[in-house]
Amino acid sequence: LSQGSEYVPSEESGGDTEESDSEETSENGKRERKYRIVGNEQLLELFRRCKECGAQLDTSEVVMREEGSVCIVDYACLSCGKSVTWRSQSRIGKGKSTVYEGNQEIAVGAFITGVPIPRFTDFAQLLGLGLPTERAMRRTIRDIACPAIKRVFKVWEAHVRSMVKDVAEPGGIAISIDGQYDSPGFNATNCKVTIMDANLKVAIAGVSLHKHEPEIG
Ligand SMILES: [Zn+2]
Repeated sequence: LSQGSEYVPSEESGGDTEESDSEETSENGKRERKYRIVGNEQLLELFRRCKECGAQLDTSEVVMREEGSVCIVDYACLSCGKSVTWRSQSRIGKGKSTVYEGNQEIAVGAFITGVPIPRFTDFAQLLGLGLPTERAMRRTIRDIACPAIKRVFKVWEAHVRSMVKDVAEPGGIAISIDGQYDSPGFNATNCKVTIMDANLKVAIAGVSLHKHEPEIG
């Protein structure tokens, strides 16, 4: 509960101590969830019996390991002799270049929302939450996110430019150009320049360059 708010027990909730949690659920419930945070203990509860034969498993047989944000549970059942591996995420991609979906989406999501990767890994470490390594996330951003974003950007850029030309008046178009650095003062490294059609209010072009690159300095 936020500061200054008042706790008013409703008739239905009665002795429910998880008031703030249930509020959150109803508020965010509009969008279907794709991932869940599951506690180690709660996860291991699901591996009390062999999935193949139903025999009770010795907890020392159940081994939990991880690959980035993926949790992998292995056990060899003494009853039926089967080795079972369970993974918390599915793999995406083709052929040999498949990756765990969540590992990829975490890196791409951090990138497109502007979350600094070192802060993100600090956060995960504090929580004891499995995340891909910083190195792995940067590789995903470089090899997967950037090319995909560039491809989509190019398509939209071409679309906007042809639209601007189509509706342009005989006298030409009026453009406005605005530039801004990523942060104020000496820490600024990158400058983003946006060129807009002043009448249509659409961005015709955008560039982001390091301050030492010739077009900026
Ligand atoms: Zn079994």
